[in-house]
Amino acid sequence: APALIWFREDFRLADNAALSAAAQDGLPLLCVFVLDEAALPGAAARWWLNGALRSLDASLREHGGCLHILRGGARELIPALARANGACTVHWNRRYDRTGREIDTDVKATLKASGIPAHSFGGALLYEPWTVRTRTNTPFQVFTPFWKAARQLGEPRPPLPVPAKLTFSRLPEAFQSSELSPQQCDLLPVSPDWASGLRDTWQPGEAPAQQALTTFVSDLLPDYASHRDHPAVPATSRLSPYLRFGHVTPGQLWHAIAQADAPAVDKDKFFAELGWREFAWSILFERPDVATRNLRPEFDALPWRTDPASLKAWGMGRTGYPLVDAGMRELWHTGWMHNRVRMVVASFLVKHLLIDWREGERWFTDTLVDHDPASNPMNWQWNAGTGVDAAPFFRIMNPILQSEKFDADGDYIRHWVPELARVPAAMIHAPWAADQQVLAACGVTLGRDYPHPVVDHRIARERALAAWKELRGA
Ligand code: FAD
Repeated sequence: APALIWFREDFRLADNAALSAAAQDGLPLLCVFVLDEAALPGAAARWWLNGALRSLDASLREHGGCLHILRGGARELIPALARANGACTVHWNRRYDRTGREIDTDVKATLKASGIPAHSFGGALLYEPWTVRTRTNTPFQVFTPFWKAARQLGEPRPPLPVPAKLTFSRLPEAFQSSELSPQQCDLLPVSPDWASGLRDTWQPGEAPAQQALTTFVSDLLPDYASHRDHPAVPATSRLSPYLRFGHVTPGQLWHAIAQADAPAVDKDKFFAELGWREFAWSILFERPDVATRNLRPEFDALPWRTDPASLKAWGMGRTGYPLVDAGMRELWHTGWMHNRVRMVVASFLVKHLLIDWREGERWFTDTLVDHDPASNPMNWQWNAGTGVDAAPFFRIMNPILQSEKFDADGDYIRHWVPELARVPAAMIHAPWAADQQVLAACGVTLGRDYPHPVVDHRIARERALAAWKELRGA
């Protein structure tokens, strides 16, 4: 009897514990993905999902199989398929969001009632969230002790190779009709087709992920700690969407980095970034509502502003603050933004515009290819000051100083805000403060070629501090 392999966010053959366990038992495999309209990710991540489905299907075809894509709800489809197929077992890799866990629990129970065992495996995280706990068995609220405790659990297990031999079983007749080829999944934008920037930037799949990892380890890791905050420099791994879709596992990254010939300071910095990802998932595991509720409830009373025009200017990269605009345009064009700039644009929305962080979280959800249900809200709450282990609200990032410090030559700005391409570094961070005649000689008249700032930095700062004081007084 075959084993049903239920793929979810683990689009890979290597280091895939669910797949390896079934292959080891020599079982013929039926590989399925359930495309549930009710549980689709944001638009940019849907674009990626389409590529992920295609690439996994292609990899399985190289081994003589294929990926069957079924439309509908997994609660009904997986048990029905397992029964129809006479499956002896169902395997999957675990997920940790509330909806996913609830579905998995229900599917497991239905399968059990039919006498079909379900086996779940780890891999999406270095450490299972319930294993990293304080001495009193509560979840950690602060990153540093969380990461220290996690590292004390020891090295993550070595990654698994692609199983040497895979055999496959056929999809039962009754399911033939609902089988879809990955090309027909309706995940891509049609009109307008806004995905050209995504296509130019990314190639979803396991092989491109491995390539990105190899390049990062050999070329970038040795300067990672000192260069990672500078958006004009290619210094970070850009592996986030590959991790998000499970083309690569954090365990594979861990071992590749551990074995690399690079300074310990760079390796440790990279490990710590993986640690933040683990921390985010541990928070989501404990607080499934992290994307919708302030983790610090005292912030429920913060007087957020309703300002659709400024929110739109922020989303479109037309705030008049060049670093903010560069970041938002990079996001719109490529579905990704440099981490330092994510922090700057998040702080700008929340503190300078005093717009609820959930608006920004939603925009990122729809536009990021690496949108992650744990990392995105955790980072938004961190920047807004409303989360656990968060930056305090009164610490307001100065977008001009951030720009001068991290994009000193203005190269990142010039790339993404081409109307400022001829503006010298001395003026590019705050063009409104420059001699407007000199600026005009560089081809920029504010209000015509590039927007006036949507808000004055000093006034915005005072407004945010006043709101915070009002909150504390309340
Ligand atoms: P690298 O520097 O190469 O880091 C390696 C990996 O570590 C990343 O791929 C990522 O998986 C993890 N990592 C790094 N920084 C963080 C962090 N602060 N929090 C959690 N994990 C981290 N990351 C996402 O993967 N998905 C999101 O939806 C997301 N939303 C964010 C929203 C905001 C407001 C902010 C400030 C950050 C967000 N991040 C998110 C974290 C971070 O910006 C990205 O992980 C990083 O920029 C990805 O680029 P990279 O792969 O080159 O990172």
